Amino acid sequence: MRGVIMHAPRDVRVEDRENPTIIEPTDAIIRVTASCICGSDLWPYRGTDEVDDTPMGHEYVGIVTQIGDDVREIKVGDFVVGSFFASDNTCEICQAGYQSRCVHATGLDGTQAEYARIPFADGTLVATPGRPDADLIPSLLAASDVLGTGWFAAVAAEAGPGKTVAVVGDGAVGLLGILAANELGAERIIAMSRHADRQALAREFGATDIVEARGDAGVDKIKKLTNGLGAHSVIEAVGTQESMMQAIRATRPGGHVGYVGVSHDVELPGLELFFSGVHLHGGPAPVRRFLPQLIQLIWDRKIDPGKVFDLTLPLEQAADGYKAMDERRATKVLLTV
Ligand SMILES: [Zn+2]
Ligand SMILES: [Zn+2]
Repeated sequence: MRGVIMHAPRDVRVEDRENPTIIEPTDAIIRVTASCICGSDLWPYRGTDEVDDTPMGHEYVGIVTQIGDDVREIKVGDFVVGSFFASDNTCEICQAGYQSRCVHATGLDGTQAEYARIPFADGTLVATPGRPDADLIPSLLAASDVLGTGWFAAVAAEAGPGKTVAVVGDGAVGLLGILAANELGAERIIAMSRHADRQALAREFGATDIVEARGDAGVDKIKKLTNGLGAHSVIEAVGTQESMMQAIRATRPGGHVGYVGVSHDVELPGLELFFSGVHLHGGPAPVRRFLPQLIQLIWDRKIDPGKVFDLTLPLEQAADGYKAMDERRATKVLLTV
């Protein structure tokens, strides 16, 4: 089969890879229908994270072609959406809704490919009610990570009726955090973005205000918009020192920060944190917790998160997709397989 390998920073190639096979009786093999490039794939692409001939990709939708002997719920022929972390969905951590930290949690070995092996198929995958119309595929694919992650961030930040929500980060996750906050009933949603095209999508997803300033100037703006108090809920969707401190400082005492940007060299000053009085909750999103609900919202055409994909390329042109996202010419790239 064909699949994407990142050999080194900025060296992405589509190559022949071994077809995956069932290894554990709880595995399934899927024929990938669509995959995508994640903002987190840019960390190794830019050399921030180690990379060494790594099969890429962890977001996917597809059709089940094979199941192991112990798979009970998922059937061959099902169209499925899965989380970017495999989880058994039965342990105490999963039952509490934190499937990305399942005691058996495991990553996936490269879904930017024609086929993929999905561990713990019954715990990881959710079948759609039937074969989706083609126009639903981008949104279902978004549910696999960026929508689920934005949703978790909004839930962790306790976005809801009567709340003012600020969103740090205008990548796909931040934009879908806005969509989630809106669905959860937030009264006011402040998007922090300097890009006109992303601001437009932010407004379409429910943002009521745009703040272009960042860092301390951005925090001042948020305070000005909230009677000097700060937002009730802040979504952090970047993962840098500046963005994390911007999120904490933009939150009012007693408010909540939902942080989902993968943390890179972030160090929190203890005394400032102590006196901030904010709740911090985040981490790798337990996408699996939200998948049944998100799939239904998409199936019923109540939300259209697939709009975050602004470039679609065939798998063979994956390298162009990485380049476009690196140069911020694309927010999120869908790969058709
Ligand atoms: Zn991702
Ligand atoms: Zn578990």
